[in-house]
Amino acid sequence: MSSDEQREHAAETAGTESGVDTAGSGAGAGTTSRSSADSDAHTTTSAATGAEAPLVSVQNLEKYFWENDSLLDRLLGGEPVAVRAVDGVSFDIYEGETLGLVGESGCGKSTTGETLLRLQEPTGGRVEFGGENVYEMDNGAVTDFRQSAQVVFQDPFSSLDPRMTIGDIVQQPLDIHDVGTTDERRARVRDLLERVGLSTDQLDRYPHEFSGGQRQRIGIARALALEPEFLVLDEPTSALDVSVQAQVLNLLEDLQDEFDLTYLLISHDLSVIRHICDRVAVMYLGEIVEIGPVEELFDDPKHPYTKALLESVPRATTEERERDRETLAGDVPSPRDPPSGCRFRTRCPMVIPPEDLQIEQETFREIMTARERIENRDISLETVGGEQIEFEDGSVPSADVPAFVDLLHERLFDEPLPGRHREVVDEALAELADSDWEAAESTLRMEYESVCERENPGLGEGAHPVACHLYGEAGTGENAIDPDTWS
Ligand code: SF4
Repeated sequence: MSSDEQREHAAETAGTESGVDTAGSGAGAGTTSRSSADSDAHTTTSAATGAEAPLVSVQNLEKYFWENDSLLDRLLGGEPVAVRAVDGVSFDIYEGETLGLVGESGCGKSTTGETLLRLQEPTGGRVEFGGENVYEMDNGAVTDFRQSAQVVFQDPFSSLDPRMTIGDIVQQPLDIHDVGTTDERRARVRDLLERVGLSTDQLDRYPHEFSGGQRQRIGIARALALEPEFLVLDEPTSALDVSVQAQVLNLLEDLQDEFDLTYLLISHDLSVIRHICDRVAVMYLGEIVEIGPVEELFDDPKHPYTKALLESVPRATTEERERDRETLAGDVPSPRDPPSGCRFRTRCPMVIPPEDLQIEQETFREIMTARERIENRDISLETVGGEQIEFEDGSVPSADVPAFVDLLHERLFDEPLPGRHREVVDEALAELADSDWEAAESTLRMEYESVCERENPGLGEGAHPVACHLYGEAGTGENAIDPDTWS
């Protein structure tokens, strides 16, 4: 999001037309992590028992962006293409808790936050705030909602209007909503600046006169001006120096206690999530794949993607650094054309082989990756044989097919495949010698189709649900790896 967009969004949240908004904070080092007692308290009254109605309830939220959807595209007969940024996301946030939303860049975290605040119109689904559907609110109710639900953006340098003094920036939401007299507003601004650790002597200074951490504090003060109940903190610490991240995170925790705030914290930084959140939702390619209490999820992650994310965190001790680490293969697929079934299956090291197939897990993963490349036409057939094999009119001369197959096999696999798998795969590779991609796809699909590509596992219910077939019926088969053995 550009600086202007951030300011516009912030202004909209505060109910203004030209406003400015906040910035975030945070960090792992030097903060105090949530005690398990805190965490238990939240989960006992929320997901575990359902005894308390959530403050925010997100139900099957969808946000698609459309490409090729201009008038010109339509005149030229183009079909609109949906980019599924958020695709059926559901979670609850309970009063006083901090729910973390974590995932790689581009997974839909920020779009989820903006859409639930109604800064973007949803494609589908429902968001309830205090039991009321925010997408069906009339103008008066929307104004109230925007006072109660504020946002702190990532970038402390672009989210504050450089032409306004910080006093005016913090006061702006109060002016727009016509809160109190001029003197009362000024007094509130002074109070807020002191609460976030800034001096009231700085009221008439401009944002460029402050450090990144101080700007975040200004943004937080502005977000608190209308006494909200709920804040979306969108990567609040990622633009800050490590040395100030912890200070701003601690400030957010203190303010939460002081003002009874409820937070949705969006971050790709697991150390930030661990230190400030009560529960965590893990997002991958527009979907939530696991939600659980923070300590439980960090100590006993269930979804292979969560495990991989935790594996990717640099280790503090020499002993930890030296232990074997599983790494994820491949890139995140495009949300324009997400994989069928489980969206993580193109990278999952535990993808489930067919029930009756004799195969090692690692071999199956390699074959699935090769299938993926064939289905995406991601192999340059012309270059396989170099200058030794002619590739003319889309075909290799029949005498050269065995050599072509061997070379392509070497290119796709670290080690030659064992036994029957070599035969099946080489049959498909021979079909590529004639550029018959469909035949190669079909040969491999018949032998190696996984339940993970046929069916979306769905998130399930309970205090720690996970969207993975390993925890369903398919996970009880002989070929399904025990998730506890992969860590
Ligand atoms: S459903 Fe299959 S591919 Fe998806 S995470 Fe589970 S094992 Fe991996």
